[in-house]
Amino acid sequence: MIYTITLNPAIDRLLYLEEVMESRKTNRIIDVAYDIGGKGTHGSYTISKLGVDNVALGFMGDLNADKFQQVLTSKKITHDFCLVKGQATRECYIVIDRNTSGTTMLTEKGLTIPRHSVERFLDMLKTRVNSNDMVLIAGSLPTGFELPDLEKMIKILKEAGCFIACDLSGETLKMAVELNVDFIKPNEFELTDLNEDGKDQIDFLRSLNNKIKYVVASLGEDGSYCIYNQEVYKVIPPKVKELNDTGAGDCFVGAFLAGVSKGYSIKETIRLASACAASKVTHSDSSTFDLEDVEKLKTQVEINRI
Ligand code: ATP
Ligand code: MG
Ligand code: MG
Repeated sequence: MIYTITLNPAIDRLLYLEEVMESRKTNRIIDVAYDIGGKGTHGSYTISKLGVDNVALGFMGDLNADKFQQVLTSKKITHDFCLVKGQATRECYIVIDRNTSGTTMLTEKGLTIPRHSVERFLDMLKTRVNSNDMVLIAGSLPTGFELPDLEKMIKILKEAGCFIACDLSGETLKMAVELNVDFIKPNEFELTDLNEDGKDQIDFLRSLNNKIKYVVASLGEDGSYCIYNQEVYKVIPPKVKELNDTGAGDCFVGAFLAGVSKGYSIKETIRLASACAASKVTHSDSSTFDLEDVEKLKTQVEINRI
């Protein structure tokens, strides 16, 4: 089984405006749509859409649990979130005006996890996860679930012997690297943070690959580097009309894990992940991609060993 862990998920409310947003003006909303927010849930959406069973785990507030679960169900995401009493899962507003590309995001801080809920969640993982499983930890930490808790969680997963993928940033990404997880995918900013001594990028990625089985550095529209078995693959993605690049990385990670779980070769896996992410950026929300487009886009991904 694949599990995704989103510790601080969100309900995204997409607000489509008639015109470009301006202050001191009434900005008319012409359409509203809901999407799931939080990075692990995006991974789950991608993995499910590629036909691979998975369960989204994490925390949700009980005050708006119905609404949160409705969005998960509408996205066909199988889930088992721990309830946090007396709190609401955060809602984020994404303002999309039809005339420009790019979006404006307004995000709430989210849940504060009580101690007993952290312990309950970690205990649940201990009993649930075994060595055949893959676990994706993605997104930010909520208040109350601190860096030492992440350390504990990764150690529990290591003990279980499962495949551990982390889409994290800053201190949490450093922690994942120190604990030798199996997959990381920093984007260019996360990579700069991680490469504190400013080493040559490829040398640095190769050094990470000594301990981490799959290392991907994603560079937005410029594609990615994937390092596996000390081989470096430079990946050039298909040219597409970008509407919104938010969630491209999440989609890439979900598809990559789906590829690994299906036993695809490294090149097939990179091709699938790059095609799914390229399709995603042509959609205005942060998770949607199109399977028919993916088939066409797969033929346009260029992979060169360097
Ligand atoms: P996220 O918002 O999900 O955190 P990220 O910043 O982690 O995204 P990016 O590096 O922006 O991830 O993008 C991930 C991958 O998506 C890229 O490596 C590339 O394959 C694909 N991608 C992103 N933007 C484009 C684009 N404009 N055209 C084609 N492919 C793209
Ligand atoms: Mg990006
Ligand atoms: Mg990312």
